Amino acid sequence: MDADIPYLLLTPGPLTTTQSVRDAMRDDFSTWDIDYNQRVMEIRKRLVQLAAGSPGYTAVLMQGSGTFAVEATIGSVIPPDGKLLVISNGAYGKRIGQIARCLKIALHELSYPETELPDLDQIREILACDGTITHVAMVHCETTTGMLNPAAEVGKIVAEAGKDYILDAMSSFGGIPLSMEAFHVDYLISSANKCIQGVPGFGFVIANQSKLELTAGFARSLSLDLFDQWNEMEHKGGKWRYTSPTHVVCAFLQALQELEAEGGVLRRHARYAENQSTLVSAMHKLGLRTLLPRELQSPIITSFYDPEFPAFSFNQFYDELKKRRYVIYPGKISQAETFRIGNIGNVFPADMQHLVEQIGQVLDTMAAASDQTVNN
Ligand SMILES: *Cc1c(COP(=O)(O)O)cnc(C)c1O
Repeated sequence: MDADIPYLLLTPGPLTTTQSVRDAMRDDFSTWDIDYNQRVMEIRKRLVQLAAGSPGYTAVLMQGSGTFAVEATIGSVIPPDGKLLVISNGAYGKRIGQIARCLKIALHELSYPETELPDLDQIREILACDGTITHVAMVHCETTTGMLNPAAEVGKIVAEAGKDYILDAMSSFGGIPLSMEAFHVDYLISSANKCIQGVPGFGFVIANQSKLELTAGFARSLSLDLFDQWNEMEHKGGKWRYTSPTHVVCAFLQALQELEAEGGVLRRHARYAENQSTLVSAMHKLGLRTLLPRELQSPIITSFYDPEFPAFSFNQFYDELKKRRYVIYPGKISQAETFRIGNIGNVFPADMQHLVEQIGQVLDTMAAASDQTVNN
């Protein structure tokens, strides 16, 4: 581990970044300056190349965290008389529904338990029965559990029904290969601080350009108007409306260059998958079980059941691991006591191995203390 960072973030983002990404934030830029705006244009070009193989796609960057980009999309691309079908099996899917309700957009929420995949036949049936639905939204990797949703299969159904498809690929884009054409995605949303390994400060949307161009005037918000932001960036050479996070943008371009240097999304995916399998097999040896079966699991973040001894406390576990320079994540599901470990960012299989050794030691100590309490 890097000697000058306090700890590794084994979370769903912000993540552990490289020193060179952090160094890219040293210089101050004016948002009016051509040097800066050219970087924005370079980022937009690279994002489109990562997401799609053919022309016809375009990228918009939006200030704020990932949720702001989701809200900008939901609030801007659905016409006033449109209706959204949200397919959800976790907190991030639910959040899309919350956004639609908040914006008073007509909504059909199709919810599944957090450990279940969406039912494709049911989706097909709803789209066949309700002709008023114009858009379908789903999360690709549901970060709540680590579940990988069938984004391509759902995309095929949505395209066959003639609807527009919005995919929250926040925690998968850059870390799991995907193609907007093959998945039939019209709007793909992600953010700077996930698998591209930048720092937090903006989100982005890669859009089917001809569809985006039809959405002028639909936005239910001024600052989160996706079309208007795109229009400005596209026609004014990379300018954002309103102040943009200049340092974060410079870090992000560096992160994109590092993704390319690593060998692109396929290589990064292979590293993440190896991180995840190293983590899970070492945890199994300690007797810790994953919430999801292997076939539903993404290579991004893994939920584990809490260890079964009476006095296990997540907070104490967290603090002990943090002292050993690993920051993990609490669980987010309602049906079971779990915690999560992310394996994305500038982290490697050896880090996973070392982490699990530390977990073994911490749990031994905690279990021994717990036995003492029980025996007294
Ligand atoms: C991280 C994440 C978001 C956005 O979260 P922010 O905290 O707003 O950055 C949205 N959806 C998914 C699936 C995520 O993993």
